[in-house]
Amino acid sequence: MLRQVAEGVLVHESEFVQSNAVVVRGRAGVLLIDPGVTGSEIDCLANDLRELGQPVVAGFSTHPDWDHLLWHARLGEAPRYGTARCAATVRELLSDADAKARVAAHLEETEIAGQVPLDLLGLITGLPAETAQIPWDGPGVRIIEHQAHAPGHAALLIEERGVLVAGDMLSDVLIPMLDLDGTADPIEDYLAALRLLEGVAGGVDVVVPGHGSVGGSEQLQARIDQDRAYVRALRDGGDPGDPRLGPSAKPGWEWVSHVHTGQLQRLAQRSERDEAPR
Ligand SMILES: [Zn+2]
Repeated sequence: MLRQVAEGVLVHESEFVQSNAVVVRGRAGVLLIDPGVTGSEIDCLANDLRELGQPVVAGFSTHPDWDHLLWHARLGEAPRYGTARCAATVRELLSDADAKARVAAHLEETEIAGQVPLDLLGLITGLPAETAQIPWDGPGVRIIEHQAHAPGHAALLIEERGVLVAGDMLSDVLIPMLDLDGTADPIEDYLAALRLLEGVAGGVDVVVPGHGSVGGSEQLQARIDQDRAYVRALRDGGDPGDPRLGPSAKPGWEWVSHVHTGQLQRLAQRSERDEAPR
């Protein structure tokens, strides 16, 4: 079911880690950002759009993780975009014949095994690096690319509507997940990305994370502060004391805690490597 979060901006929430697909109404149809996860959910979204009489005229993937790269034939053949780095990463990920089998095997370990349509996975066109806005006939959608969760990760700012689509940043259920392979300094890059988002926060009334609840402007600042505190705690070896890591958090917190432990270990390995004599 589509839910309006601002004028002409609607969200379709998946049961899988509260994933949010975002629909932006344009003149001749909609822009669809990160379409969703399971086949039946994408099907439901396609039905909702048909009822609205709105074809999909453009798509966008915020970053090159499988759960943001899906598509379904019923959504039509609109161009699907991502940043140039996102598209390059996807090309590399899918460059060998076993790539989709690997994604399917990974999905076998989740509660949505066998329910995710992988046929049209990752067929996106990279927008040249200097592209400021998504090319489409609708309200301007600014691309705010940064180096944080994944290579070529982009948040999208729909200025006219006061909406920030955050990709896998600023979630109230997931801790910051650093890109530990793609950048030289994942901690500082993540903090820089948060500053970039904070820089546009003044014009934002609604924040839509890739996973989690839609928030208002006060939530936006709270989430920036919370993510920054978490990343600094990772850097400084302190206890993040993050509510997303405790049993009072939403279902799935065990997995989030597991991710947290993994990040601590990887960062420790990195600093050992950096300190080792060459
Ligand atoms: Zn995600």
